[in-house]
Amino acid sequence: MELIDTHVHLDLDAFDPDRPAVLDRARAAGVQEMVLPGVTRARWPDLDALSRHYAGLHVAYGLHPIFLQDHADADLDALEDWLDAHPETVAIGEIGLDGYRLDRDWDRQWRFYTRQLAIARERELPVIIHSRRALDEVLKGLRQHQGVTGILHAFIGSPQQARQAVDLGCCLGIGGPVTYERAKKLHRVVREAPLEALVVETDAPDQPLAGHQGERNEPGRVREVNTAMATLRDIAPQDMAIITTQNARRILRLPNGTPQ
Ligand SMILES: [Zn+2]
Repeated sequence: MELIDTHVHLDLDAFDPDRPAVLDRARAAGVQEMVLPGVTRARWPDLDALSRHYAGLHVAYGLHPIFLQDHADADLDALEDWLDAHPETVAIGEIGLDGYRLDRDWDRQWRFYTRQLAIARERELPVIIHSRRALDEVLKGLRQHQGVTGILHAFIGSPQQARQAVDLGCCLGIGGPVTYERAKKLHRVVREAPLEALVVETDAPDQPLAGHQGERNEPGRVREVNTAMATLRDIAPQDMAIITTQNARRILRLPNGTPQ
């Protein structure tokens, strides 16, 4: 089985003690490739170093809405310079809007989000989007930047919103939450979405799966996410893996084949 974890924060300190073992376990589970989204300018060099050190790691660079207070306006220009210097970048991300932020500075969030959408459009790069309690606004931004597609990471929304995202050319990133019995709305989304719109992710070290509450999540567990989705669609996990891996390659324009 070949799987791609489309969203894992492997650069975070949580993985410092045993990163090689985490990657070994991921590969043993069939996860040969993963996508590492950037969150702040200060962390981009770590991502770059990681992707050069280990095989199969794809990198995205962006300014995450949760870290709005860590971003300077100049970081948007810095992102452009960084992209010029790093043509191996697979996506702009993690970008988006976060409605849970207590100190939410909506105008500034919107400015960072839409400017990064514009950068993605200009460079013809896909986006990796964080959206919490802000899905309609996230979709509005995408509509204003026609042609920009990507992954709505940790998708939470109604089947109608899922359809709007798919109509805009986006994939739905499905992770640990789908393994919970109580996640009925998400189950419905997974059952009703077109198969070509589904990609798997862990968001490790966050979003632990059912049965692993309180533990650090890790990329190898994307296999269980894939199996949970296969069960919902009543197809074999192996077939779901082929579908989600193809989708990840298509939406992020990753080359075919296992990297050396
Ligand atoms: Zn993330």
